Amino acid sequence: MALVRFSGLAQAFLHQPVEFVNPFNKSSEYYGSHVFNQKAMREYLSKEAYERVLSAIEKGNKIDRYMADQVATAMKAWSISKGASHYTHWFQPLTGATAEKHDAFFEPTEDGHAIEKFNGGMLVQAEPDASSFPNGGIRNTFEARGYTAWDPTSPVFVFGSTLCIPSVFVSYTGEALDHKVPLLRALQAIDHAAVEVGQYFDKNISKVNATLGWEQEYFLVDEALFHARPDLVMTGRTLVGHSPAKGQQMDDHYFGSIPERVMSYMREVEYECHKLGIPVKTRHNEVAPGQYEFAPIYEEANVAVDHNSLFMDILDKVARRHAFRILLHEKPFAGINGSGKHNNWSLSTNTGINLLAPGSTPKRNLLFLTFFINTIKAVNDRADLIRAAIAAASNDHRLGANEAPPAIISVFIGTQLSEVLDELEKLESGKMSPEKKTELKLNVVGKIPEILLDNTDRNRTSPFAFTGNKFELRAVGSTANCAVPMTVLNTIVADQLVQFKKEVDALIKNGMKKDDAIFNILKEYIKSSKAIRFEGDGYSDAWKVEAEKRGLKNTPDTPRALDFYVTQDAKDLFAKHGILNEVELEARYEILQEEYYKKIQIESRTLSDLVQNQIVPTAIQYQSILSQNVMRLKEVLPVETFTRVSREQMDMIIEISERISAILTQSGEMIEERKKANNIAHARERALAYCDHVKPYFEQIRYEVDKLELLIDNEMWPLPKYREMLYIR
Ligand code: ADP
Ligand code: MG
Repeated sequence: MALVRFSGLAQAFLHQPVEFVNPFNKSSEYYGSHVFNQKAMREYLSKEAYERVLSAIEKGNKIDRYMADQVATAMKAWSISKGASHYTHWFQPLTGATAEKHDAFFEPTEDGHAIEKFNGGMLVQAEPDASSFPNGGIRNTFEARGYTAWDPTSPVFVFGSTLCIPSVFVSYTGEALDHKVPLLRALQAIDHAAVEVGQYFDKNISKVNATLGWEQEYFLVDEALFHARPDLVMTGRTLVGHSPAKGQQMDDHYFGSIPERVMSYMREVEYECHKLGIPVKTRHNEVAPGQYEFAPIYEEANVAVDHNSLFMDILDKVARRHAFRILLHEKPFAGINGSGKHNNWSLSTNTGINLLAPGSTPKRNLLFLTFFINTIKAVNDRADLIRAAIAAASNDHRLGANEAPPAIISVFIGTQLSEVLDELEKLESGKMSPEKKTELKLNVVGKIPEILLDNTDRNRTSPFAFTGNKFELRAVGSTANCAVPMTVLNTIVADQLVQFKKEVDALIKNGMKKDDAIFNILKEYIKSSKAIRFEGDGYSDAWKVEAEKRGLKNTPDTPRALDFYVTQDAKDLFAKHGILNEVELEARYEILQEEYYKKIQIESRTLSDLVQNQIVPTAIQYQSILSQNVMRLKEVLPVETFTRVSREQMDMIIEISERISAILTQSGEMIEERKKANNIAHARERALAYCDHVKPYFEQIRYEVDKLELLIDNEMWPLPKYREMLYIR
């Protein structure tokens, strides 16, 4: 360990790289080794049990108790061979993190020995002591507790010494208490709706999976520095801190070489991921210093969601082994790029087709255009729900802060596809002559290239960009559970596809040919969803003005964005597709509003403590040193000399006094606002009070503190500085 002198911390230890040595040569030797995948199942299950599990995964068929016992016995044997001693139902409650309660296989026998016990009942259902998970009042109203149930569609795995059983979390009366239940329902809805529409083109389409490829951004800081920052420990972000002289203006971090210490960390993350079958593939530096990214190969959305949750856990656990802490917060450092989690989304069929990829024939491209245009239409009509789905106190710092997509939802498709849609829009309504149709197919639809040039160099300022063979939802926050945006996106597109089918069928019933009917409806959709399409710079002020003219909403804060979840349209939509009933939706809404104000409350308290206990005392100490110095100078220097040389120091003393006074006044006012807010019973109103009356003090107080940081002796400053956290490896 190297001894380094840091600001304020009289001494701190900078950690040296922890060497990670992969015991294997190639990842193919251990990839998926800790997943109870088809290979492991074939080895450990009878043929009958294997087929039952597969049909549960693929068709959602039930597994009976007898079969569950067999499966459990096999899982137990397999997991013990991987070093497991405990099992847990692994689930994703509404708190954002993952939850698990470990139970040992171990069970003492009467003769004083012990056996490893795990049966079908334990596999299928468990009752975690979960009364402290947020439930928005559902459990209080209906039942005292919820239970977790095995979700066979996501594979069981061994993490550390625990057999983890991916599960859903529901109340005894069946209400969803987690992120997975609505996601699974939404994936079912998009499957049904997309199959119906897909069959206009190919009768062999019988299953459509939504696919998700996430890209996770995060920051790494040294563990010692992390612990010296109460704001990082308590809130995951810095509440004060002056920007370093060198920020990201040099652009030298992005794709730059990865420091050795970080590299070793990343190799171990990759190793852990690959054992668990998480197909992480790319790793690189991000725009900001200290910021990095991992992205896997895309997977079926349900599995990808689980893998992202697990991945965030792995990032954190492995970081500790390397004396790092990871910061998943969307905006850990002011003035430095924040972190997001792009959600790349598409639809893939059992026939091996990506429905959002252009192909080489007109027929294939009409299929593509159908799904492409329906997606745009869905986002146009329900942009508010997308906004609600990405809302969180931490993501508010990113949206609209000129580094990430703005809080205005729009869709980017690139010039080539814009031209195609413009051509289609010009079509006359009604039946087309055979010649016209042939021409259209050959010259417009048939001409869509398989590789779209401008989409590889796509618009980075768009929140929802088409990137050649998928849409990329770029506004999702780095802390988010992908299940939330994926539930909303798949639901709104499913609803749109159902609507499309209805309208096309009506035209067909009136005697129109299928192709004509499809063209006619698509043309209408292109017209009615023009407002959402935007190819320009999403960060510009001009766009805000233009968006307002188009009637697009700009909702910069979470409490108001969440309101979109509980409009009549949203309630009807989620109920119609069986995603969330009104009770479930209202419960979620309340939990999210509560989560919002609790986050701001914690930040506000942390900031109060920080200024009271660390910043102000340090400033007073330094001020006193300066004052004593001035008094002594006055004693020893001739009057004229003293008057000439002491002015700057006197000014410093005055400035420090004024800033201390401003900080104390503002933090006093903030505490008063907090008290007022805490007296409000209603969750939404309290969230708004925190948003509108407490949060604005953060910036003001920080401004004064950051000025003090520049004035005060480096060795006295009580917090590690940005340059130390971001540049020291
Ligand atoms: P980048 O966005 O960095 O340019 P890529 O465009 O290659 O990188 O891919 C980004 C992400 O998109 C990856 O995680 C990849 O797995 C995912 N992706 C690629 N194709 C699909 C698809 N059909 N469905 C969902 N995600 C996809
Ligand atoms: Mg991307």
